Amino acid sequence: MAGMRAVEELLSRAPDRYDITVVGAEVHTNYNRILLSSVLAGDKTLDDIVINPRSWYDEHGIRLIAGNRATAIDRAGRKIALADGTVITYDRLLLATGSKPMAPPIPGLGLANVRAFRDVADVEAMIGAAKTLRRAVVIGGGLLGLEAAWGLKRRGMSVALVHLMPTLMERQLDAAAGTLLRRDLDARGIACFTNCQTEEILGTDRAEGVLLADGRTISADLVVLAVGIRPNIDLARDAKLDVNRGILVGDNMATSDPDIYAIGECIEHNGQVFGLVAPIWDQAKVCGARLAGDVAAVYLPPPVFTSLKITGVDVFSAGALAAADQADQEITLHDAKRGLYKKVILRNDRVVGSVLFGSVADGPWYVQLMRDKVDVSSFRDQIVFGRAFAEQANAAVPPADRAPVANTDADTAAAGLRWKAA
Ligand SMILES: Cc1cc2nc3c(=O)[nH]c(=O)nc-3n(C[C@H](O)[C@H](O)[C@H](O)COP(=O)(O)OP(=O)(O)OC[C@H]3O[C@@H](n4cnc5c(N)ncnc54)[C@H](O)[C@@H]3O)c2cc1C
Repeated sequence: MAGMRAVEELLSRAPDRYDITVVGAEVHTNYNRILLSSVLAGDKTLDDIVINPRSWYDEHGIRLIAGNRATAIDRAGRKIALADGTVITYDRLLLATGSKPMAPPIPGLGLANVRAFRDVADVEAMIGAAKTLRRAVVIGGGLLGLEAAWGLKRRGMSVALVHLMPTLMERQLDAAAGTLLRRDLDARGIACFTNCQTEEILGTDRAEGVLLADGRTISADLVVLAVGIRPNIDLARDAKLDVNRGILVGDNMATSDPDIYAIGECIEHNGQVFGLVAPIWDQAKVCGARLAGDVAAVYLPPPVFTSLKITGVDVFSAGALAAADQADQEITLHDAKRGLYKKVILRNDRVVGSVLFGSVADGPWYVQLMRDKVDVSSFRDQIVFGRAFAEQANAAVPPADRAPVANTDADTAAAGLRWKAA
């Protein structure tokens, strides 16, 4: 997703500056990875999520080498070696190798019917499994694990979700919202096992169940791993570029070799690694501009928000999840019976975080207040009730002037349209 966004930006600025070659390990042209969850849930087809078909590459004179992995970079010779022996030369190289699913250190990972949730091949395998198999266990109760669980449930499987932490999506939600989320999933027939460590995936040739550390076993015909990702830095590390958790880049998106750029989930910028597209779009824009010769383009990480793509489950979070110290203030509205929860975190009269469950329409407004560092002291008492209420009660509320940074599928689709129009 990152690499092709950068190519689109480059083409919009300097279409004739380079002969472009795109190398991709997957056999497909670039597609919207975010929407794999919607494909799994049966709301979209693989064709629906293609961003640029092969004809687009032809029209723009781009050489696409798909289904072939880059295996080594020869920086001195400015060459790339591919798995099939092809060698490509470059003047400028962009690494956008994404990340790899993490695997927990447990026995049984190599059994048949144990999958990650990362690419088209994983989704095709899961859809195929759901046609003949009955029981799925998803390991990992973060964004990806929940979307995998929901998709498999929609495909007719009976689904259990195993999560190490006491509440779901603990990186994006506080305990109160996580508890409401779990209640919602239970009601949808997804059995949640929180506070549970997976000890082993059981089976002889294929997955037959999951053994938990407390001794319980859960039967399974399919096990999906969604316990996190780590930046895919193999090529960069082997080429002796500076790496830490990710490939180290500066504000200009260049690596320690000025002719090699890197963007997306494979990078580390100012100590930060990435797992959502919103900041990645900004990186792609800066990288495309730099490649086009704009030496002023710099990357400033935007505040981003998270939401879940499970039909009917409204979850939103941005920035801090809780007050960091006594100086911060949390304003909370909690109606457990209606499944409604809203929390806004303030620091020096500025919004620094928000967690919403059950009603998320005001999420983008909170992100805008965060991003614009608006002094909210004059409408502090109304802020948790949302924009419409605050505006009615107080003329000082700033109007919503622009779209927030997006990461839902609908928002991303809209952002994609804006991008294409730009
Ligand atoms: C199921 C799912 C749902 C998601 N939902 C959301 C969401 O709702 N909101 C959100 O913001 N983010 C979401 N994400 C995360 C988002 O998809 C990623 O942040 C984004 O795809 C990262 O873009 P990227 O270009 O860095 O990596 P990728 O999109 O992973 O692209 C990297 C590509 O590089 C290829 N590659 C790797 N190594 C090589 C090599 N050596 N040679 C050739 N090719 C190579 C890979 O095969 C891959 O195709 C989701 C991810 C998944 C898997």
